[in-house]
Parts: sequence; structure tokens; C-alpha cells
Amino acid sequence: MLKTKKIGVLALQGDFDAHRRRLEELGAEVVLVKKPEQLADIDGLVIPGGESSTFLKLLGEEGFAQLRQFVLAKPTFGTCAGAILLAKAVENPPQAGLGALDIDVVRNAYGRQRDSSIREGTFQGAPIEMVFIRAPKISRLGPGVEVLATEGKDPVAVRQGKTMAATFHPELSGDPHVHRAFLQLVEDSEDNFRDGPSSKHRIP
Ligand code: GLN
Repeated sequence: MLKTKKIGVLALQGDFDAHRRRLEELGAEVVLVKKPEQLADIDGLVIPGGESSTFLKLLGEEGFAQLRQFVLAKPTFGTCAGAILLAKAVENPPQAGLGALDIDVVRNAYGRQRDSSIREGTFQGAPIEMVFIRAPKISRLGPGVEVLATEGKDPVAVRQGKTMAATFHPELSGDPHVHRAFLQLVEDSEDNFRDGPSSKHRIP
């Protein structure tokens, strides 16, 4: 039987509760992470939307360093402001990134007209509703980064190794596919990393 995964949702500010509900609907055990010590006890982390500069202020230098250590080691999914935090470089204006994803992002990159909107995009080949709220755009994709979703010509969800990000808010739409993909990533990472190669990769 599969062990229930413990997923943390960073709960410093922003819309963390919608992520909690969605993950619980999908069968995960959810912990709202308010203190860095809680990171030691979870299998994966969701960094929600909100205001990325406020996250940085609330984390402080030490919290940032602890979060960085976690996201470089364990599966993490950032949405909107969370995606901004995971990036390598951030513009408009420049600010620190955790560097877990080899992408650059531009904050608030949609013009005023489309500041916030609901549009249809494609996630893993299927149409999906996407809620954008003062969203960033991914302006550079490193060679190891896989595009999971697009809206028009723009990449709007990406994955590199055990790290995933979306510039939209899947927790605000009814479609569970994006969170399910993250839970699968947590599952696969455990297989691959927890006790070294799993038996299915071993030569008999
Ligand atoms: N505009 C916010 C930022 O730059 C992100 C908005 C969001 O998370 N919905 O951090």
C-alpha cells in the first residue's frame, strides 16, 4: 500500500488554503508550514501565490537559506509568486531567486488590460482553464527545463527534475491535473532518491 505523502504548503501569506484543500481532495496529508523547522517533516512543498517580495521580507535571510536548502533537495511546486521564488533570475524589479529552476522570470509581465484573467491553455497535451493574477512570464528556459503547459506561445508551467512551477493558479480552477502531476513527482522522487535506486532499476 502507498504511504500517504505529507505535503507542506508554505503558509506565510497568499492563497495557501486553496492548495491545502486541493491536495487533501487528492488524498495527501497537508501541513501548513509557518516555521522553517517544519520543513524537516515533509515529503514535498507547495509555495503558493501571493506577493513574492513580501515572501522574501517575511522569510528573512535565514528563512531564505533554509528554504533554499529544502527546495534544492526535495520536490517543490511553486505557483505564481512561488514560481518567481524558485527561479534563477528575477526582473521587474530584480530580486533574489532560490535558483531551483533554471529559468528567468519577469514579474507582472502582462499589460494592464490582461493584468488578471482566466484563459484556456494546454497542460500535458490537454486543454485546461488557467487563472492568471498579476502573473509573471518565463523569459528564459534553461536546457534541462521541460515545458508542461503553454498559453498561446508562452510556457506557463515547467519542470526540472523534482521542481515544478506554474505562472497561473491551478488551485483556483476545478481541474485537479496540475496538483496530481506534482503528487506524482513526489511519488517518483521518493522511489528514485530515498534509498538509492529502487528495485525496478536494479539489475537482478
Ligand atoms: N505579482 C506577484 C509577484 O510579483 C505575483 C502574483 C501572484 O502570485 N498571483 O510576486
